[in-house]
Amino acid sequence: MRERFELTERHERQREQVREFCEREIEPVVEHHEREGIFPEEIVRSVGEAGLTGVPFPTDVGGEGKDYRSFAVTVEELARSWKLVAGAVNIACGLVGYPLERFGDDTQREQWLGNVCAGEWIPAFALTEPEAGSDAAGLETTAQRDGDQWVLDGHKVWTTHGAVADFILVVARTSEGERGHDGISLIGVPNPHDRDGVKVVRNIPCMEGDAAVESELRFDSVRVPAENLVGEEGRGFRYIMEGLDIGRLGTAAQGVGIAQGAFETSKEFADEREQFGQPIREFQGVGFTLADMATETEAARLLTLAAADARDRGERITKEAAMAKTFATDAAMEIATDAVQVLGSRGYSRDYPVERYMREAKGTQIYDGTNEINRLVVLNRLYTE
Ligand SMILES: Cc1cc2nc3c(=O)[nH]c(=O)nc-3n(C[C@H](O)[C@H](O)[C@H](O)COP(=O)(O)OP(=O)(O)OC[C@H]3O[C@@H](n4cnc5c(N)ncnc54)[C@H](O)[C@@H]3O)c2cc1C
Repeated sequence: MRERFELTERHERQREQVREFCEREIEPVVEHHEREGIFPEEIVRSVGEAGLTGVPFPTDVGGEGKDYRSFAVTVEELARSWKLVAGAVNIACGLVGYPLERFGDDTQREQWLGNVCAGEWIPAFALTEPEAGSDAAGLETTAQRDGDQWVLDGHKVWTTHGAVADFILVVARTSEGERGHDGISLIGVPNPHDRDGVKVVRNIPCMEGDAAVESELRFDSVRVPAENLVGEEGRGFRYIMEGLDIGRLGTAAQGVGIAQGAFETSKEFADEREQFGQPIREFQGVGFTLADMATETEAARLLTLAAADARDRGERITKEAAMAKTFATDAAMEIATDAVQVLGSRGYSRDYPVERYMREAKGTQIYDGTNEINRLVVLNRLYTE
């Protein structure tokens, strides 16, 4: 990874464009949706319509033909306003979009990915199972060939947006004899909720709040055409490992956005809130906290953009993305927790967004590989590169 990189005017324009979108579409409604537990389906679709979902994909598949620094800036700005929306873009680009773009056939690239980029399809990625979390290759969902169809059977948990998805990329075992990484394939399931055998068991109540849709799903003899296999049979695990590099880059950017939002809210509050006859920022205990927040946010951003820059130069970024994801999401958790403290009782209330930032940050330390698993990835690379 190069030690130096730069953002161009193009990237700053991208940041401005996303911020305008957030101010117009997200910020007026986020607290209402959060309080009422409403999934922001229209916003998630309108992100696509605004050209912000398919940022790094080529224009011939409906993308914006921009680079991964633009993608990172986009996800960061969305997360500064609402992590839920940033997460939707990240799933679309990383775990779903990347394998479709890189390994899919013409229909999968142009129609499936095209629909995702345009916001016509909300996509979901179904890997995790009750007994296969960090050890994802231990999954038990099967896809068996029956003539010109695949028949899917299995139980998935934590499929983000699964219950509202127009398309689910399911990770399944297609070869019974093989265990572990081999014999795992990717099967696309368009319009899953119009199909026999796809059952939403429940939406998992979770720390992120009731607007979030984290679904538990069952697939009971779900039939899809044979051509819904993405890429080669048995190579799915390798494909998702590559997609995870992009997913982790995007999750790092989510961490940066959450940290930035928490910092800005804290700084503004510390300027205005007076106790003992002076703004609380003038107490060094609070001022130093603000200085540390700003420093860590900037460090997280630089690590994230450096990983994106390396990807833009064609490098494989497994280590860089894992480093950025771990550092930025740990920083987000610490900064959001400090933000609640700076705001005192108001930070603990739902009148300010910092308790939401704290709940959102916790999730980023867990998905796209827990930060322990990401540390293992970094460690492994240190001894193999
Ligand atoms: C908000 C949210 C959204 C998610 N979205 C999706 C999604 O869209 N699609 C999907 O497929 N999955 C999704 N997930 C699932 C997520 O990928 C898993 O939760 C994650 O991989 C960890 O699996 P687990 O929860 O089963 O934890 P476990 O694997 O049971 O781990 C429990 C603890 O043990 C630690 N641990 C496990 N193995 C090791 C090891 N080798 N070394 C050190 N520590 C270890 C973990 O770090 C963790 O702290 C989501 C999860 C959350 C919370």
